[in-house]
Amino acid sequence: MSRPINAMFSSRLTVDLGALRANYRTIASHIAPAACGATIKADAYGLGARDVAPALYEEGCRTFFVAQLREALGVADTLGGDAEIVILNGLDPGAEAVCAAHGFLPVLNADSQVGRWRGLARALGKPLPAVLQVDSGMARLGLDAVAAQALAADPAFIQEVPLRLIMTHLACADEPGRAANAEQLACFQEIRSLFPAAPASIANSGGAFLSSAFHCDLVRPGIALYGVHPHSSGPPMAPVVRLDARILQIRDVEAGVRVGYGLDYAAPSRRRLATLGIGYADGWPRSLGGTGSAWHTGQRLPIVGRISMDSITVDLTALAPDALAEGDFVELLGPFQSLADVARDAGTIAYEILTRLGTRSERIFTGYQTAAAAALETAQ
Ligand SMILES: *Cc1c(COP(=O)(O)O)cnc(C)c1O
Repeated sequence: MSRPINAMFSSRLTVDLGALRANYRTIASHIAPAACGATIKADAYGLGARDVAPALYEEGCRTFFVAQLREALGVADTLGGDAEIVILNGLDPGAEAVCAAHGFLPVLNADSQVGRWRGLARALGKPLPAVLQVDSGMARLGLDAVAAQALAADPAFIQEVPLRLIMTHLACADEPGRAANAEQLACFQEIRSLFPAAPASIANSGGAFLSSAFHCDLVRPGIALYGVHPHSSGPPMAPVVRLDARILQIRDVEAGVRVGYGLDYAAPSRRRLATLGIGYADGWPRSLGGTGSAWHTGQRLPIVGRISMDSITVDLTALAPDALAEGDFVELLGPFQSLADVARDAGTIAYEILTRLGTRSERIFTGYQTAAAAALETAQ
């Protein structure tokens, strides 16, 4: 490949911010007139929240969902002052003052959290906005209907805690045919009517592609922004991630030679093997040992033997002898192998593959620069 090898890294994760922005526009226009937020928890599913968030901000996104307070603190300075950061995991004991000082919106998931946030509002003598989550049938996070009714019956609550959003989460949004979706919607609409002034949100990526009844006022996609369509049909999402690993060494082995930990694989005939610089410590699933693939220009290179911490071995025999050399990169995610393909082979979901990748790879952002970065470059 023509790109000079960066000798600091054995693999590289390329994040196409142009594709990310295109996916945002696709979802936003599909759900209009509802507004489109973005879920950027877990470092934007491993892609780099500090680059993903400002790209989406420039696309018009103003509501960002993280899981933890630390994630909110890590991304806040990349966004304009009119952006709201919502902390999905809720209001941990001790987090109240930091949340309020930064203007983050905690999701109040339980009575105890409501009580502590109201207590701070009274102590500060000013209203403290927040998001209220109700459980509509997933039994994960959020107030039940009885607790929500009690809050709605207390007029002081809405004075102390203006609701920027009332939300719930769907258990089966990626399965459009499940009756649970309509049941959760009905349950949510009933509770939501107790707080008529608050905007409402129910849909993740899966919900964005259910009927418009699920869109409410705000949709909060994650995985679809990052290139994975939650359903088998619907407007296609542009792939955002590409992963390539460097060939560390090529060797020819005779029939019967065994490969890797445990010597699980035995070459059935003379083979040309390449050891690639990516392993389970880079998030490449160990369950792909003996079953997964790398690719080179449309040719499948089967993984042979177990996945090591820092390397895997693939079979190059199908290629022309001079097709690849040590130092070249081969594709692990890209035009020939999607996140969904890898997830299927590894027996997991694309979310898990994505969120584990990239901690040790060179990370390259393409396709888009923030206005700030472009201005900096022009000035130089
Ligand atoms: C993770 C999460 C989302 C985003 O889900 P995707 O399926 O990635 O779109 C939205 N809402 C909540 C509450 C979440 O936990």
